[in-house]
Amino acid sequence: MKHTKLILALCLVVVSLFVISKTDRRFNSAYELTTTETSVYICDSESAYAYHGKSTCGGLKRCKQEVLKVTKTDAVNKYGRQACKMCY
Ligand SMILES: [Zn+2]
Repeated sequence: MKHTKLILALCLVVVSLFVISKTDRRFNSAYELTTTETSVYICDSESAYAYHGKSTCGGLKRCKQEVLKVTKTDAVNKYGRQACKMCY
């Protein structure tokens, strides 16, 4: 009887692991979708506040630091940038 309970518990663990791995895969494919989204350009400077749709934007030309190409989501969430008023 004790043995049956152990097997049942193991089954539960296996099933929940299976469910978790399935959910993970769904998260991954959602993440892949977001990585294919629009790329924007940001100036890697602490005083910069905007992200740009074009690498040739006048706002970027003033950048003394490196110009980074990132996704729009990263520009907003990771770097806290707003859309540039000149090219958006
Ligand atoms: Zn711009």
